Amino acid sequence: MKNGITDKRVWPAGAGLGVLVASAVHAAQPDYPGALWNSAYPGHWYTTGNGHYFVVEHDTELYYEATLSYFQQSGTEASINYCVNSLHNGSDDQGHVENNPNDAPAGEITQIVEEQYWAWHVVCWNRWMFGTEHEGFATSPAWYSDAMYQASGALTRYLCDKYNIPKDRNHIIGHDEWQNPAWVSWMTDNWPQIDTTCNTHHDPGPYWDWTKFMSIVTGSGGATAWVDFNYGGTGSGTFAAPYHTLAEGVNAIPAGGSLFIKAGTSGETLTIAKVMTIQAYGGPTIIGR
Ligand SMILES: [Zn+2]
Repeated sequence: MKNGITDKRVWPAGAGLGVLVASAVHAAQPDYPGALWNSAYPGHWYTTGNGHYFVVEHDTELYYEATLSYFQQSGTEASINYCVNSLHNGSDDQGHVENNPNDAPAGEITQIVEEQYWAWHVVCWNRWMFGTEHEGFATSPAWYSDAMYQASGALTRYLCDKYNIPKDRNHIIGHDEWQNPAWVSWMTDNWPQIDTTCNTHHDPGPYWDWTKFMSIVTGSGGATAWVDFNYGGTGSGTFAAPYHTLAEGVNAIPAGGSLFIKAGTSGETLTIAKVMTIQAYGGPTIIGR
């Protein structure tokens, strides 16, 4: 897990160079309304598969923007559907220092492979499963931020709703789920056509908070909204297109949800009458009396 490159280098099952011929450049748009788009190297996905019945959670062992570049390289025989930024220019006590002041905000999501295709992230499971990468290092709890969980949990909920994937731990799994005997047993009973022994990676690892993540996926932990007072585009309540005002953001989430505020130059006073988590960044912010 210390070597991010080899951790993610997954040759497509049964494939030689014959399947790596680049397809025509595809002017794709993100499927998820909250995502940006940054394609994998052309052709680094399967265009045929068995369906999308699972979502696999990974960590990158690389910084977010380095991960996006990594997947664009012709020599990277791996890809992923979505990648989530965990920390803005992060660092930890294990010597990881992102050193990128222009890093994207925590919680930003970039789509890399279209949902209609199958990314290369879990060897023989690829043709059954979506995948999401999260900026982070499996040995370091610092990277699994609340912004990351909220953003990825909402993304996973969207995928489950759209593709009728049950929101449970049999269908929402880690790349390390092959180590979980309960899951392996369940797979043997329910998906005998999938070989649970073909993966060897250990991400997202022991610091990934499955309880928290699943509470967001199922909605029991509330939802997330973003507010950017300076945002000039068409707001839809996602991070890539946030709400313009505090009132819009507060109204968009249920009690128990999370509100992320990118502070701007304008002010707004609002009485908030339900419990929620509020995080602000990017400028002066006054919350509470
Ligand atoms: Zn992985």
